[in-house]
Amino acid sequence: MKVTGNASGSGSSREARIASHSHIKGLGLTEDGTALPLSQGFVGQKSAREACALILDLIRSKKFAGRALLLTGAPGTGKTALALGIAHELGQKVPFCPMVGSEVFSSEVKKTEVLMENFRRAIGLRVRETKEVYEGEITELTPTEADNPLSGYGKTISHVVIGLKTVKGTKQLRLDPSIYESIMKERVSVGDVIYIEANTGAVKRVGRSDAYATEYDLEAEEYVALPKGEVHKRKEVVQDVTLHDLDIANAKPQGGQDIMSVVGQLVKGRRTEITDKLRGEINKVVDGYIERGIAELVPGVLFIDEVHMLDLECFTYLNRALESTISPHVILATNRGKCVVRGTEYDAVSGGEGIVSPHGIPLDLLDRCMIVRTLPYTKEEIKEVLKLRARIENLNLNEDALDLLTEEGVKSSLRFALQLLSPASILAKVSTRTEIMVGDVQEANTLFIDARRSARSLTSGQGGKFL
Ligand code: ATP
Repeated sequence: MKVTGNASGSGSSREARIASHSHIKGLGLTEDGTALPLSQGFVGQKSAREACALILDLIRSKKFAGRALLLTGAPGTGKTALALGIAHELGQKVPFCPMVGSEVFSSEVKKTEVLMENFRRAIGLRVRETKEVYEGEITELTPTEADNPLSGYGKTISHVVIGLKTVKGTKQLRLDPSIYESIMKERVSVGDVIYIEANTGAVKRVGRSDAYATEYDLEAEEYVALPKGEVHKRKEVVQDVTLHDLDIANAKPQGGQDIMSVVGQLVKGRRTEITDKLRGEINKVVDGYIERGIAELVPGVLFIDEVHMLDLECFTYLNRALESTISPHVILATNRGKCVVRGTEYDAVSGGEGIVSPHGIPLDLLDRCMIVRTLPYTKEEIKEVLKLRARIENLNLNEDALDLLTEEGVKSSLRFALQLLSPASILAKVSTRTEIMVGDVQEANTLFIDARRSARSLTSGQGGKFL
């Protein structure tokens, strides 16, 4: 078995999946859990949002353990948006891990392995570390920005000298050239107040010189005076990682002093694969951190779209994983009604026909699910979502173009109308316009057809010519 860090899709493709929901900032609820018509990027879908508000209450009062939320509804009716809204409501930095059921079918990695990886992506760990840092105002920086080797005028840098002014006086630090990259990245220069982590050399800009005698106190959430004359001091740093981040860090130990490499060093040996044994060892170390009060678990949201694509083996795994004490909050979604549970087609009980079940989910798992339905959108709601997206993507949409896109949304789906936005904006740009006009939408609509038109053109014989 070969397991790499990318068993079920790269981080960037996952981010891209969430990008189309960047307008969703929460569920848009009042204090008593009523859904506002338009709030936090959410439009309509009132009863589904209010049902999700109740799920939030159950999660917060720790009564959701062992259960899952199942969202059912037609494509593009906001199932993913609801799951993301729930994650936002649970707090900042709560992990949200979206996946699609079919992701588990890879020729290289076991199905349950993919599921396990995603479970661990959805479990966060908030670690409080104390780091040794140098902090003060930069009084001198050699080499200067003009010597930056990346700018083309570069010299070879043998060392970096930083003058740091603190309350007591100025201290000159002679540092490794590798720190230059961090300095360039943070764009710090003379006059900036910075802190440099003693062990990793990471540089952070804190402010400008007028604040040099202060530091940010995490507990008090305010700037406080530095203890007099300290250059070398300790600072508490809060870091959010997921269990999967720790798995990767330990599979490829890199050394260093931050939390991931510290855990990496605690779990001995040079590994290149994430194995069950390694995960077990990491869990033990994490438990130790939690017991010592250094870290706390932050259960996030695992969202499995097209859950009907999973098979019996995966459903069995899910059932078991939901029982675990460190399970994330699991949200499933499907647009299917009754269908065959995958993996039961050759089952002796069903005589080879396959077991038919609502949403293609076995009844024992369905029993654990709280089911919430999403409904199709009205014309007005589609228009509101389009306006929201246009605003967030900085697109200037002409009123008639918006009406035409809304019509397309009603005829086809909200998702299709949203997808036409970007090509229409490119067509407008090609015509050297900043405003998207009806003609751009019409042209985009002829270039890209929606699923229904595409299927119709193939079944009506027209498509036969191409096959
Ligand atoms: P599928 O079943 O195909 O996965 P879905 O039900 O998960 O679809 P989404 O992906 O959530 O649908 O919705 C499609 C797009 O419309 C997304 O960009 C989403 O953010 C946006 N959207 C859907 N519903 C709403 C809503 N009620 N308010 C604001 N935006 C919405």
